Order: sequence, then C-alpha cells, then structure tokens
Amino acid sequence: MKKQFAVIGLGRFGSSVCKELYKLGHEVLAIDSREEKVNDITRHSTHSVIANGTDEKALQSLGIRNFDYVIVAIGDDIQSSILCTLLLKELGVEKVWVKAQNYYHQRVLEKIGADRIVHPEQDMGIRIAQHIISEKIVDYIELSPDYSIVELIATDKVSNQSLVELNIRALYGCTILGIKRGDDINIAPTPTDRIQQGDILIVIGHKNDLKRFEDEGM
Ligand code: ADP
Repeated sequence: MKKQFAVIGLGRFGSSVCKELYKLGHEVLAIDSREEKVNDITRHSTHSVIANGTDEKALQSLGIRNFDYVIVAIGDDIQSSILCTLLLKELGVEKVWVKAQNYYHQRVLEKIGADRIVHPEQDMGIRIAQHIISEKIVDYIELSPDYSIVELIATDKVSNQSLVELNIRALYGCTILGIKRGDDINIAPTPTDRIQQGDILIVIGHKNDLKRFEDEGM
C-alpha cells in the first residue's frame, strides 16, 4: 500500500531518504527552508515546498498531521530539529523519525516523543567496520544492541550441504532467513534446500552466536 511521507530538511541524509521513498513509489512531500534545496529535489518528490519546519502555522497548512510518517532530517541546527519534532508530535503526527546529531540530542528527542531516532553516521560507520574486519560479511543490520541480521558469503565449508545437514540453528542458535543466488532470493528456505558456493546467506541471531557461526561454521 502506498504510504504518505514528508521529509523536513533536504541535506545529504534527508534528500537520500526522499529520493529513495519516491523511487519506491510512495508519495513524498519534501520540505526545506532553502529554495535551492527545494529546487534540487523537485524531480525526485511528489511535492516540494519552501517552509520552515519550526513554523507551526506552515506545518498546519501543509496538512502535516495527515502524513503516515514525517522524517526530520534537519542537520546541525539541533534547536530547530527539537522544536520541529515537538510541533509534529503536538500536531498529532503518528510516526516521527528524527536524525540525531549526538547523544544529548537523542535524549531530548526521546523525552518529547520522537518515535524513532536514527544515527546515520554511526550506523554506517559500524556497517563499514563490519565489512572491513570480515571478508565473509556482505552486509549488516543492527536490530538491537544484541541482535543483528548479517549477509554472509557461503564458503566451501557449507557448500553442497542442505540446511538440515548444517543444523545451524541447533549448533549456533542462528536462523537462516533467506538465500541469495545471483538475482534470485529464496526467502523461505526449507530444510532440504542446498547451499551452493557463492550463495549469500541472510542470517539472524545474537551477535555472539553470529560471530561463532561466522568463525567456526563457515
Ligand atoms: P546533512 O548532514 O544530512 O547533509 P545538513 O545540515 O547539510 O544535513 O542539511 C540539513 C538541511 O535542513 C539543510 O538543507 C537545511 O536547509 C535544512 N534546514 C535547517 N533548518 C531547517 C528548518 N528549520 N526548516 C526546514 N529545513 C531546515
């Protein structure tokens, strides 16, 4: 189902979010206080307007409360980011996602009711570090401080074996969610499915278990 999104602040982060949502077929309203930012996004959004995210009347007249999600991607101006988030929650926006600049910004955002707080730089830093330290890890998503999803390249050790033979869940406590083979992706692998060399395994588990599987099982 098509969802309605608004992105406030069109720096590198906000404009990437906006473009991707629009590419995925959603309705996206792009907002920035600077005209050139708004002009740059026109082709990549459903509507784009010049407005200040801290102007309550402007937000109201845009009908902001009717959007399913509003993403606050105001960068360095922490005060504006906080005020904008507060106004959005007071106006009744259901889901407000906010980019935090630092830990104190995050704490204030939590207090005023932001529904999700993201730290794109830190998250990307962690993902890149994971890629660098392990040649087997293709991608990495942190679900919580303890649990993650990783994509691992199947090594010789697991190739030509079925999932039941590998017995990964019992031995390592990890679950294979899917197997990527070229452009195909098997999102419901059965116990008899065989892994081939070069497959990419999408695995969910506790970080310690994933590490053990990566080190000993692969
Ligand atoms: P990034 O690190 O994602 O590139 P920036 O700080 O460069 O972040 O960009 C933030 C964007 O937010 C800028 O385009 C800026 O014009 C916009 N912005 C800042 N304050 C407001 C505000 N009060 N209302 C709307 N947009 C704002």
